[in-house]
Amino acid sequence: MKPIKFHLLKAGHCSHPECIAMRGGRWSSLRFPALCGVIEHPQRGVILFDTGYSSHFFDATQPFPERAYRWVTPPTLAPEEALVAQLARMGIEAGAVRHVIISHYHGDHIAGLKDFPQARFWSTRADYDALRKRSRFGNLVHGCLPALLPADFMTRLDFAEDAKRMALPREFHPFDSGFDLFGDASVAGIALPGHSTGQMGLAFCRADGRHVFLVADACWTRNALDEHRLPTWIASRLFDSRHDYAATFGRLRELAAGRTEVAIVPSHCERTWEAWLNETR
Ligand SMILES: [Zn+2]
Repeated sequence: MKPIKFHLLKAGHCSHPECIAMRGGRWSSLRFPALCGVIEHPQRGVILFDTGYSSHFFDATQPFPERAYRWVTPPTLAPEEALVAQLARMGIEAGAVRHVIISHYHGDHIAGLKDFPQARFWSTRADYDALRKRSRFGNLVHGCLPALLPADFMTRLDFAEDAKRMALPREFHPFDSGFDLFGDASVAGIALPGHSTGQMGLAFCRADGRHVFLVADACWTRNALDEHRLPTWIASRLFDSRHDYAATFGRLRELAAGRTEVAIVPSHCERTWEAWLNETR
């Protein structure tokens, strides 16, 4: 894999009782950051992996019944935390973002899509088809807010399944192949079914040689993975398939237990975020 420059950013967070998100958790509320990946690709320009929360989330959850989304997972987003503001401070204008890779269509992952008017979007066809087929209420029950999609979304969307397959370096075993999204073996989209129908993670090699796997919501926290604590029955009502979730979770545990170390990055893991801050401070 070609090494690429990578940053991790946090675009807001939500709060939720630990005992709902993880079996055996406490009643106290935990902070679940909304993490996003930023890749500076030498030929493809700036590529995002998800966008976290944005002001559009608050617009989309203003009416009923969508407002219920805010009650279940109350979000916090300071204006300076919006992804578009953070990128500007890094010298990256919104128009310079050429691609946004969507792990899945939950509101806390796609709320910033409208902020990047020059970007093309990538998702799995499986996830997009599931979103399109559901009713407004059905989408809400599954954590999806179609109002967050730009009006011209469909004309800017590419499907991961149309990319050719690529073999992954042995470090990622048992994940052995992925979608070669840009046709240059720089980043691989990895199917992580269960949380949503066609959830997609991203595997790549960082400029310093470290292998990274952005796993979205295939596990919510690194502790849950290490301690083999699956989400509770209530939390997993949101999932497409609890059976597939458990299978994907099991493969991630196998990867984490492997001899070669890969940085596994769940989208909502405070410990992972703290580790990133310590590393880059
Ligand atoms: Zn999700």
